[in-house]
Amino acid sequence: MANDNKSIRVRFAPSPTGQFHIGSARAALFNFLYAKKFAGTFILRIEDTDRQRSEDQFVKDILDCLLWLGIGWDEGPQVGGPAAPYFQSERLAMYQKCVDQLLAEKKAYKCFCSPEELTKEKEAQQKKGAAPKYTGTCRDLKPEAIAKLEAAKKPFSIRFKVDGRKVKFDDMIHGPMEFDANLFGDFVITRTDGSPLFLLTNTVDDNAMQVTHVLRGDDHLSNTAKQILLAEGLNFLSPQFGHLPLIMNPDRSKLSKRKNPVSVSADYRQSGYLPEAIVNYLALLGWNPGTDREIFTLHELIEEFSIERVNNSNAIFDHDKLLWMNGHYIRHMAVGDLAARASEFLTQAAIKKASRERPEFFLQAVSLVQDRIKLLSEVEEHIAFCFVTPEYDAKLLIAKKSDEARTKTALTAATEALTKISAYTLDELEVALRATARHHGLTDGEMLWTVRAALTGLPASPGVFEVLEVLGRDESLKRIASASKKLT
Ligand code: GLU
Repeated sequence: MANDNKSIRVRFAPSPTGQFHIGSARAALFNFLYAKKFAGTFILRIEDTDRQRSEDQFVKDILDCLLWLGIGWDEGPQVGGPAAPYFQSERLAMYQKCVDQLLAEKKAYKCFCSPEELTKEKEAQQKKGAAPKYTGTCRDLKPEAIAKLEAAKKPFSIRFKVDGRKVKFDDMIHGPMEFDANLFGDFVITRTDGSPLFLLTNTVDDNAMQVTHVLRGDDHLSNTAKQILLAEGLNFLSPQFGHLPLIMNPDRSKLSKRKNPVSVSADYRQSGYLPEAIVNYLALLGWNPGTDREIFTLHELIEEFSIERVNNSNAIFDHDKLLWMNGHYIRHMAVGDLAARASEFLTQAAIKKASRERPEFFLQAVSLVQDRIKLLSEVEEHIAFCFVTPEYDAKLLIAKKSDEARTKTALTAATEALTKISAYTLDELEVALRATARHHGLTDGEMLWTVRAALTGLPASPGVFEVLEVLGRDESLKRIASASKKLT
């Protein structure tokens, strides 16, 4: 097998039978990192042989999500490549050829057992406490018997003959593995309708695409043993396999829709997560950098990634940690970038309009709240007060331990001070408001609370001086005037 680093070829092989899953994104990412680390090739292969469950919309979702995450493929849909086509539904003739070969070499056989017969067999085994496995009823059928069943048009599947030996392989993550093939029984490689099974198509394509390394979830471990047998039957060299730890819910159940959002597009992208944060978080789900460092760009991950530091125990999906990480990326991004990305999440017409017509003001509003948000989708509710006159209860204006009369004084004093100052800047605003508070016997707390509440109508918001600066003198005075009216 080709093992010099340059010729590393990995593949990500999703089945388009549902929305692109966050666990699949992790598998894609690890393959991508491994390939890029060694300047190898990352192949995207769409495993759409289940025609009933595969849908074009899910193919689109896979491609969109991968591109959004920055996980581009070197060979695959849209870009093509030497092993095209990259949709398994377009490669059926190749699978058939392999099945014919296995049949001709008597490494596989037609199985005419009906589903009812198979179920009965299984139930009888279970009753005896034995693990279910096909007993091989059709394994040694005489040619005349086969001819008869064929003439009667009895449906058949095709089974691969498993000899009862141990299958050994050296897993890139788990180390030496051993499976007793005796436990499998002869397994099906094509269904009664002639459609090939995953075990076959995957094995044939990994060979045809000269895949050198297969990184996939732990749930495929026993499939790997079967695929190794199948590859031997077809005289293929098997790729090297590495099984990634499963991703679990915090309660250690398997990551599922019911307990955790799993759709990359619907649950993460559309909720305001950044692709940078998702990629960073997913990389740490099963891989450890060997230090306390947690923040990595995709480029840095390529540099740092090593398969030796992929854990072999399950990884827990910690939603709070991901949210924290998203907030971290939001806080550290250029405000222009943040404003551009947040503008895709605006829903209120007035704010949308303002973002287009007054881009600078929109940018200032976003910069006001940059430190306070964790999701792009939260930006709008935090900046809304800048664009829409706030509505609130007059009680909000009264600071703790203050009263209505003192609040009124604060508003009048603030109006005077703001009108008077010549340079309407952060520093001047602060000096002026604090001075006038003192002058009128008010605490700083009373003054600042009241003015801030008058400007925003919110119990919590960015600091008063920043808000005054962004809103500007006229708008600020207008809002303070209407607050005064509320108190009379
Ligand atoms: N289509 C399979 C899956 O989505 C591919 C597994 C593999 O990577 O071999 O689980």
